[in-house]
Amino acid sequence: MKNKRQAVVIFSGGQDSTTCLFWARKQYEEVIAISFDYGQRHRKELECAAALAEEYGVEHHILDLHLLNELAPNSLTRSEITVDPDAPETGTPNSFVDGRNMVFLTYAAIFAKQRGITDLITGVSQSDFSGYPDCRDVFIKSLNTTLNLAMDYEFDIRTPLMWIDKEATWAMADDLGILDVIYRKTLTCYNGIIGQGCGNCPACKLRQKGYDRYMQQKKK
Ligand code: ZN
Repeated sequence: MKNKRQAVVIFSGGQDSTTCLFWARKQYEEVIAISFDYGQRHRKELECAAALAEEYGVEHHILDLHLLNELAPNSLTRSEITVDPDAPETGTPNSFVDGRNMVFLTYAAIFAKQRGITDLITGVSQSDFSGYPDCRDVFIKSLNTTLNLAMDYEFDIRTPLMWIDKEATWAMADDLGILDVIYRKTLTCYNGIIGQGCGNCPACKLRQKGYDRYMQQKKK
């Protein structure tokens, strides 16, 4: 049974946010997906998100955030910067975009409030956070408080993947009956290859490892 009316999902068309989108569809009567165009190297990411939203009848908005790329060039937006193959020992990997999740959630919150929506869903995970500080629970809680104070409103930022790893995210997709959708139609790869991707970039490695582990465990 759906317990709430509406939610806004931050949606990139990748494994995590797509799993969250389908999770939200089970919980809410209406789900609105928001993607951000910040000059991603791979336009396919936005195309992939738009195609999924259309196929499953989800209202979808793409907001322009090119300023983010101008201010914080990184390996996801600039072809001259090669994506680090592995996370560095210290600091953030060069695929990290300073402020990205804060900016995304802030714009999603502004959008949501205009429609009287309080619930914001994001697929961040502290378990697989790959050195991204803005995927941590403490950050999300802090931003939730800040947004409430900023707009005098009771936002509820929900993070269904916060404490689970990629293996469990695959399990969640399977429970939701969308394992195949995630496997074939989402884009996680830093090299812009849909489905299981290039197999070499950090995002593909993490995704594949989780999938293999889940399938092994499922067979038992
Ligand atoms: Zn890849």
